[in-house]
Amino acid sequence: MGMGMTNIADKVVVITGASSGIGESTAKLLAQNGAKVVLGARRKDRIDALTREISASGGRSIGFPVDVTKRADVEAFIKGAVESFGRVDVIVNNAGIMPIAPIQALKVEEWDRQIDVNLKGVLYGVAAVLPQMQKQRSGHIINVASVAGIKVFAPGGVVYSATKSAVRALTEGLRMELHSHNIRCTMISPGVVATELPESSSEEATRKDLREFYKMAIPPDSIASAIAYAIGQPAEVEVDEVVIRPTAQDF
Ligand code: NDP
Repeated sequence: MGMGMTNIADKVVVITGASSGIGESTAKLLAQNGAKVVLGARRKDRIDALTREISASGGRSIGFPVDVTKRADVEAFIKGAVESFGRVDVIVNNAGIMPIAPIQALKVEEWDRQIDVNLKGVLYGVAAVLPQMQKQRSGHIINVASVAGIKVFAPGGVVYSATKSAVRALTEGLRMELHSHNIRCTMISPGVVATELPESSSEEATRKDLREFYKMAIPPDSIASAIAYAIGQPAEVEVDEVVIRPTAQDF
C-alpha cells in the first residue's frame, strides 16, 4: 500500500468497466491509497486477475461480473459491495464503448449499444447506489464522460458525442438534485487516453486511423489521479468537472 491520500483510505469505491484502461488504473491507484475497491466488468477473468494483483500488494478488493446494460447485474453489483464492505461511498460510472463510424453507415445496432452502455449504464449505476447513499446521508457519484461530450466529434463520433453530452447533462442535473442529500457529483472528461477504447470500432480501417490519432494519448493513470483528487477532497468540497487532454491535443 502507498502513502494513503487524505479522504480516500477506507472508502468503499465501486468502479464499472474496471477490467481495463481507466477503470483498471483507477482501481489500482485507489487501492494503493487504502480504498476498498469493488470492481465490475464483463470480462470476469480480467477482474479476477486484478483483484488478485491488488490483494497481493496489500490492497482490499472484490470483483463481480457486471454487464452495465443489464439493470439486474448492476443492482447485484451494488448489493455485493454493501454485503462485503457495509456501504458505498463512491461509484465511478466508467464503463464505455466508442465504435466510430460515419452516420451514413447506419450502424444502428452500434448506436443502440452506445446508448445502452454509455448512457443507460450510467443511469443504472445511479439507480442502484442512490437508495444506499440516501440511507447513509453521504455519497459521491463520478461519471466518466469525454471531451467529445463538450465538443462534437464528427465525422464518426456523433452518437458517441451524443451519449457523452447526455452524461454531462445528467451529471449536472444530479448535482442540482442531490447536493441536499450530501451526495457529491463529479464529471471527468478525458481527451485521448491510451486504452483499448479505439478497438471498439467495428471497421479495421477506422481502428487504424484511431491508432494513428491515439499516438498522442496520455496514460490512464493521468485520469485515475484526477478521480483520486475528486474523491480526496474534504466532504464539503465538491469537484464538479475535470477536463484532461494531452497537451498536444487540439480537439
Ligand atoms: P477501455 O476499452 O480500456 O475500457 C472500457 C471498460 O468498459 C472495460 O473495462 C470494459 O470491460 C467496460 N465495458 C464495456 N462495455 C461494458 C458493459 N456492457 N458492461 C460493463 N462494462 C463494460 O477504455 P477506457 O478505459 O478508455 O474507457 C473508460 C471510459 O473512459 C469510457 O466511458 C470512455 O468512453 C471514457 N473515455 C475514454 C477516452 C480515451 O481516449 N480512452 C477519452 C474520453 C473518455 P468489459 O469489456 O470487460 O466489460
